[in-house]
Amino acid sequence: MNYKDESHLIGTYKKFQIVLKRGDGVYLFDENDKKYLDFSSGIGVCGLGYNNIYFNNALKSQIDKLIHTSNLYYHENIAMAATNLAKASGLKSVFFTNSGTEAIEGAMKAARRYAYNKGIKGGEFIAFENSFHGRTLGALSLTATKTYKKPFKPLIKGVKFTKFNDIKSVKKLLSKKTCAIILESVQGEGGIRVAQKEFYQDLRKLCDKKDLVLIADEIQCGMGRSGKFFAFEYADIRPDILASAKALGCGLSVGAFVLNERISKDSLMLGDHGSTYGGNPLACAAINAVFDIFSSENILKNVQVLTPILENKLDSLKAKFSFIKSRQGLGFMQGLSFDNRVNVSDILSKCQEKGLLLLKCGQNDLRFLPPLISKEEHINKMSEILEAVLREVE
Ligand code: PLP
Repeated sequence: MNYKDESHLIGTYKKFQIVLKRGDGVYLFDENDKKYLDFSSGIGVCGLGYNNIYFNNALKSQIDKLIHTSNLYYHENIAMAATNLAKASGLKSVFFTNSGTEAIEGAMKAARRYAYNKGIKGGEFIAFENSFHGRTLGALSLTATKTYKKPFKPLIKGVKFTKFNDIKSVKKLLSKKTCAIILESVQGEGGIRVAQKEFYQDLRKLCDKKDLVLIADEIQCGMGRSGKFFAFEYADIRPDILASAKALGCGLSVGAFVLNERISKDSLMLGDHGSTYGGNPLACAAINAVFDIFSSENILKNVQVLTPILENKLDSLKAKFSFIKSRQGLGFMQGLSFDNRVNVSDILSKCQEKGLLLLKCGQNDLRFLPPLISKEEHINKMSEILEAVLREVE
């Protein structure tokens, strides 16, 4: 079999010419056993890296017991998974999905339902420039990139986009129909940008004052990536709804939206939402194992301790190469923006040749999403390889 045969795949992805075969810790190995240091984590998913024995055993033993039940029955893992996520987020009630995009769809429905119960039909959303919330028709409506949306219009009505970190521009967009404001606590795909503390607090105040729903999309920046369970914690606020996915399952396809007490009491009701697979025994075993490992391996502490080291390495690269315009990020979610003298795609492929996997984002930016278990030696190695590549393209 030619593993690169795409003749029966819908061609929505331009894949790298690498066939990955196995993973171990922070490393991936291709079909020729070439080793890659993975600073992309499967786009922010594999927080625990690869081949974590506790995680693997939890899944294996669950497979031998029960994989699926549907949501018509209870099973042994869902109550614990919901409790884990409610505790970590400080919110109340969880609906499990199978992906991030589905978590966004659910969050949108909960927000609209909350508004509907107050007599607002067709509640409208405020989202932000450079946002990314997913590719289904609802989530795509909240995503800023015009080219992603154009062929699929009409999308949902009444979504307005405004400047990130600019509360005045948000206030200008409010209407009687506004039901929710949605933001990534740290923007990812559109370029790494951190929501400033004051901005987040102002959004919180605004939503409280106008009885709007504040939705935090922490699909990429959540579950420890920022050094806290959720990046909104840095702003000392809580959203009304949280969307989570990616590292929540650390490789198993899970997502969730979580409602606070207020929205939980007065939005989605019996029969309002559903998912055949969401919250199945295997998915919840994965989520529970992730939370166990976060605690036993002190994952948040690791990210907190190593963040300054990662930031220093990236800052010193910025100081050495004038085509690096800036570094921005939080915890293990960092970005370097390049000017047009270099092309980030070239840098990515040269890094791959040298055994380092990174990601692109934004206009011409490199994105760093190392596994949350990475150690100082891995950061040093990443920086060494990247510096060698930057010298080549200089
Ligand atoms: N929201 C954010 C912030 C994301 O980064 C992503 C995926 O990259 C999504 C939503 C969509 O999640 P998924 O691809 O799991 O559907």
